[in-house]
Amino acid sequence: MSTSYDSARVWCCQWCSRRVLRRTRFLGNPSESQLASYKLRGKIVVILDETPPEEQNLLRSFHEDYEDKISTIYSQGAAGVLIVINELRESDMEKRGYNFDVRQDATYFEENVTRWQQVQENASWWEPEREQPEWASLPLCEIRHNVAAKLLGISQAELKKMFEKMRQGEQIAMQKTSGRKITLTIAEKEELNYSQNVIAMVEGTDPILKNEYIVYSAHYDHLPIQRGRVYNGADDNGSGTVNLIEIAEAMALDPPKRSIIFAWVTGEEKDLWGSRYLLTNPLIPLEKISANINHDMNGRNHEDSVWIIGARLMSSDMEKSVIDVNEKYMKKSLRLSDYAFSYSDNYIFSSYGIPTVSFFSGEHDQTHHPDDAIDLINFEKMESYAKYAYYLGHEIGNKNEMLKLDIDPAISGRGNTYLVPRTEGIHQ
Ligand SMILES: [Zn+2]
Repeated sequence: MSTSYDSARVWCCQWCSRRVLRRTRFLGNPSESQLASYKLRGKIVVILDETPPEEQNLLRSFHEDYEDKISTIYSQGAAGVLIVINELRESDMEKRGYNFDVRQDATYFEENVTRWQQVQENASWWEPEREQPEWASLPLCEIRHNVAAKLLGISQAELKKMFEKMRQGEQIAMQKTSGRKITLTIAEKEELNYSQNVIAMVEGTDPILKNEYIVYSAHYDHLPIQRGRVYNGADDNGSGTVNLIEIAEAMALDPPKRSIIFAWVTGEEKDLWGSRYLLTNPLIPLEKISANINHDMNGRNHEDSVWIIGARLMSSDMEKSVIDVNEKYMKKSLRLSDYAFSYSDNYIFSSYGIPTVSFFSGEHDQTHHPDDAIDLINFEKMESYAKYAYYLGHEIGNKNEMLKLDIDPAISGRGNTYLVPRTEGIHQ
């Protein structure tokens, strides 16, 4: 029997641009030692995603535990890897409207992140530059259950059973898929898009210090209409965008000594395009930016607390300023975290040695879903983030010196680049 998918077109990553028509081999959930013993040369292997639900980030597919397995599959000479997404992810895809088959699977990749970028994000953020590994040239895609069932010649119920067994710790053995072939056309897609950052400035009051800056940022883009559904993005990032307007109004009435720049940046969801452009085409000398204060998702979760990302990573002055502002003005339950530090525009500022914090109230069920709507916004929460960030701007803006870079010895000055530039791709 021969099953061939006609030119399943998969925008997988920017490194692989070729067409492969190959035999498939279903491997279940193999251990690494099993993988090392299989003959996979020239085959497209199909494996099951065994990421435990509690470790799974539904918005991202590539779990770092796969790295070693993929590397072994690569060294065994495979021509590509198809990962059958697990049930949790499958139902989440349904919920989010990603009803793709193989072709549309491509769309999913297109709208999210490239593989190497995902690996980078899973890495500890301050890890020194990592070379792209050899296996990065291996086509690797996710497939949905309907596709996997057809490809493997089994029912979706049988597939579901396999996942159930895996959850109970059982191993799903390799199975022959004799004669089954798949054609993958894996291509690089280039698009030229135009968009704008919106920048404003409030001049500082001190004749000398006004030549130094604090940059507030918030991305104003969100996801496009998909399958006829409008993605409102009220929290992500209507909340941050509006908070910046409020802070700008207050700052204009009472500026600190340093000048304040407001940057409503574009294309954050497309891999931080706007902030990347801003920092690579700076309007002011980067070494004169004392700090970046980013706002991304300010209106949900944890009513009584304020969650601030990244304050401890670059400058003890930043951490102290954040804590001082809380003690002096806000008196909130303060939670300092480094979670998701690389997910938003603050990451680009940090990659140029600029101390940064991101006001981020956390993900929720409506994140990147059409139902991220205004009726779910907690406006008191938003207001507390705006006030906190305003006071923080004054605290940092009135200091005698710019914030010290004193935490990571490798980060010695503003304007240098420190992090691996993330691959062009899509950021969520
Ligand atoms: Zn966002």
